[in-house]
This record gives sequence, structure tokens and C-alpha cells, in this order.
Amino acid sequence: MTVIDAHNHLQDARFGGDLPLVMAEMKAAGIRHAIVNGTSEADWAQVLALHRADPAFLSPALGLHPWRIASRSTDWANLLRELLESAPASSIGECGLDLWMPDADLTQQREVLAVHFDLSREFDKPLTLHCLKAWNPLLQTLKHSPPLPPFLLHSFGGPADMIPSLMKLGAHFSLSGHFLHPRKVRALDAFRRIPPDRIHVESDAPDMAPPFELQGHYHREGYHHPADIPSCIEALARMHQLSPEECALAISENTARLFSLPME
Ligand SMILES: [Zn+2]
Repeated sequence: MTVIDAHNHLQDARFGGDLPLVMAEMKAAGIRHAIVNGTSEADWAQVLALHRADPAFLSPALGLHPWRIASRSTDWANLLRELLESAPASSIGECGLDLWMPDADLTQQREVLAVHFDLSREFDKPLTLHCLKAWNPLLQTLKHSPPLPPFLLHSFGGPADMIPSLMKLGAHFSLSGHFLHPRKVRALDAFRRIPPDRIHVESDAPDMAPPFELQGHYHREGYHHPADIPSCIEALARMHQLSPEECALAISENTARLFSLPME
């Protein structure tokens, strides 16, 4: 089985000196490519360095995560544009709306998101969006924006009845292992309503681990190992009545298409 990790944060300090081993284990587990998402000016250079060291395996995404908005400099949008110009393989993200975080300022979050939307149209690049407890504001923002290139709602945990409207606006949806917890069955169930050609899988490592028993020998203290993705594929294959191999192939093709990666 070969798959693409549609969303992770391999630049995170929690991987520390383990990162070369973690990447080797991802490759051995059948993960052929991964999209590494930056979250603020503080990590964009690291994300680009990871991509440049192994461009066949890692693609960069650059964006300002809602949790990191307060740390932005006055020049953040210019820097983001310059880096996107310097790295043609880069897509845009992680960015989005979050009303789960303490002291959320939706007005500021919308302003920052609008900059990402503009860059996505200008560079014709897909966006990776984060959304927590802000599904109505996100849907309204998308509806009132000029059309966007296709975008990925990463670790999708939104309401199932919003899926058709989101799809019309260009949404793709990715499943993370976190939704394999029995308490998250409603979020997992929403993936039944998504056509297989809009589904992706992601680790969101070092966060969003699946239940302990699905982590197998990849379980590590301190971070979620990004080689865990096959458990997501198995859950989706059962749901859509495909073999795990067929499901992995279809999903990899979706992700390759969305991010303009080579087909296998
Ligand atoms: Zn993330």
C-alpha cells in the first residue's frame, strides 16, 4: 500500500533528532510523499529546508495558523509572498478560522485568511484550511469570496450536512487518525457522505494520534508518529467497500492531483 500524507508538521521541535529515523520509517510504511505545513514566520524557513533536502518526498505548504496570528510581524504577508515565489512547489497553509481557541478574534482571523485566499488565487495554488468550532463563519467567508482554487479541509470534523455546500465551493476533506477514537464516531461517519474522489488522509503529526491500539509499533512518547496513516485507509476502505489497496490508490491519486504531485 502506498499513500500520501496530505498534512503534517515534520518541522515541529517534538521530533527533535528522531526526524531522519521518522522519515525513513514513513517511507518503509509506504508513505511516498507528504505535505509539510508551516504555521508562522517562525517555521516557514524550516519547512522549506525540509523540502529542499528531500523534494521527492516532502512538499512545503506555507501559511499563518490562527493560533499563531498574534505572533505575526507587520511584514508577514510580504514575506509569505516572497517565499511562495521562491518555492514553486509550495502550496498555501495552514491557515483558517478557530473559535475553539481562547480569546479568539474572528475579525483578525478573517483578515489573515483573506490574505491567504488572495495568494491562493494569485499563485493558483491549493489551500489547506484549519477549522475548529467555526464552520458557519468559514462557510459564510467562502461563500462571499471570489472563487478559489480547490482547497483541503484538513482533519475534517465539520457537520455532515454542510458537506454538499462546501464541496460546491471546491472543498476536499482529509481524515486524521484522531477520528478513529470511538468517541469521534460522528466525525468519522461524515466521511460516508463524501465522494471517494474528494477524500484524503493525513497524520497531522506530531498531533492528532489515532487510539493507542492502532498506533502499533509506531507509538512513541512525546509525539504522534506520521507512519500511522494505514489505519485511516483501512477505516475508509471498510466504509466505502473498497479493498485497502484500491482505497489507498484512489486517495493517493486525489492528493497527487490536488497538490500537482507526480502520479505514481
Ligand atoms: Zn496541522
